[in-house]
Amino acid sequence: MRKKIVAGNWKMNTTPAEGLELVKNVIAQSAEVCECVNFIVCPPFTHLSQVAEAAKGSRVAVGAQNCAAEAKGAYTGEVSAAMIASLGVKYVILGHSERREYYGETSATLNKKMEQAYANGLTPIYCVGERLEEREAERHFEVVKAQIEEVVFNLTAEQFADLVIAYEPVWAIGTGKTATAEQAEEIHAYIRSVLAEKFGEAAESTPILYGGSCKPSNAEEIFAKENVDGGLIGGAALKAEDFIAIGKGF
Ligand code: PEP
Repeated sequence: MRKKIVAGNWKMNTTPAEGLELVKNVIAQSAEVCECVNFIVCPPFTHLSQVAEAAKGSRVAVGAQNCAAEAKGAYTGEVSAAMIASLGVKYVILGHSERREYYGETSATLNKKMEQAYANGLTPIYCVGERLEEREAERHFEVVKAQIEEVVFNLTAEQFADLVIAYEPVWAIGTGKTATAEQAEEIHAYIRSVLAEKFGEAAESTPILYGGSCKPSNAEEIFAKENVDGGLIGGAALKAEDFIAIGKGF
């Protein structure tokens, strides 16, 4: 049985007070959802500490949205994986399409970030996904394969056993356009087959999340697919009721 995960990427939203309120509501309402669902919230760095403190001892885990590629030193504005881990944070989102697109993150950078994450005991949620023009040109399989080969294939078997993948088609992020459940299953199954080429049977245990305009009204249909193990949620993670309703989609 693979882990079922519903992770919220708050992006650059919420003040510390709003974030605290949000996580408290998520924790309170999580009692309505099957214990089999693992909730993760990923707030901005400014309130990671407060949110992690509030979530301590609850069923809601906390993740960061990014980490530095270097361990420490003269890197103004960066936040290291060690700093993040010291707060009791367990996950880190890496390779989100917004980081690739707006901050020029390449596979070379992401390899370093993955190393930092593992060296500090953080579980990466590694994001892959094609742009609209790549989907239209039917290049989505090849794009996603390269994003996996260039980064995930560099992991050891031990690191790979502690990895979450998020498939997020860029054309579905924040656009209201969702991949159909069939499109999600097709590419999730493909991703698992690519992972199996390198890591064999272990790929059967890797949670692969869907992300891109996932909401209470479509979560159940998408999560019902064999190779979809949950969701990485943006907009709908900012309202506890919606985030929890997505968790009920299992
Ligand atoms: C995301 O950016 O991780 C995401 C899935 O966003 P949204 O749910 O808003 O499309």
